[in-house]
Amino acid sequence: MVQESRPGDDAVARPLAQACPWCGSGIPPGVNLCVVCGQVLALPRGVRLASPGRRLAGSLLDSLLALLTLGIGALVWSIIVWGQGQTPAKQLLKTRVVDATSGGVVGWGRMFLRIILYQWLALGLLGLATLGIANVAGHIWLLWDRRRQNLYDKMAGTLVVHWPDEAGPVVRHRLAAPGG
Ligand SMILES: [Zn+2]
Repeated sequence: MVQESRPGDDAVARPLAQACPWCGSGIPPGVNLCVVCGQVLALPRGVRLASPGRRLAGSLLDSLLALLTLGIGALVWSIIVWGQGQTPAKQLLKTRVVDATSGGVVGWGRMFLRIILYQWLALGLLGLATLGIANVAGHIWLLWDRRRQNLYDKMAGTLVVHWPDEAGPVVRHRLAAPGG
C-alpha cells in the first residue's frame, strides 16, 4: 500500500508569518525580532536593534566619560542608570539593554552581570588566554551577528535597542525577564 502524503495537514499546523510593524517584512513564527530592520516585536513600533555605529559610539563615549570624570562620576552615573538598562553613553544615545527573549528592559542586576562579570571579567580572562583575541572578538561580534549581539550579550542573554522618544515611554515594557 502506498502512503499518500497529505500536504494539507502541514499547512494547517503551521501558523502564518506575521508582518513586521516597522518595515512590513514577514517574520516567521517563534522569531521575536525582524532580521530585516531589527524591530523587536514585543516592544513599541520603532524600537529596533541599535546599529553597529551607535553601539561603537556608545562604547567610545562611555570610555571617554570615564576618563573625563576620573572614573568616579561615570561610576555614580552608571549606578543610577543601570536600573533602566542603560549606561551613561546609552542614556545620551537613547539605547537600552533588553532581555533577548522577552524584550523586557533589564534592571540593575542584569546590567551588573553583563558589564562586570561577562564584559570585563569573562572576556578579560579569555583575552589573557588568547593574547587579546577573545577580547577583541567579544566586542566586535555584533558586526556579523544576526541579532547584533556581542559575546557578552550572548552570555547575558541581552540585546541592545535604539529607543527613540517617538516610540513612547519605557515603563510599560519593563517586563519580568526569565530568571530575574
Ligand atoms: Zn522589519
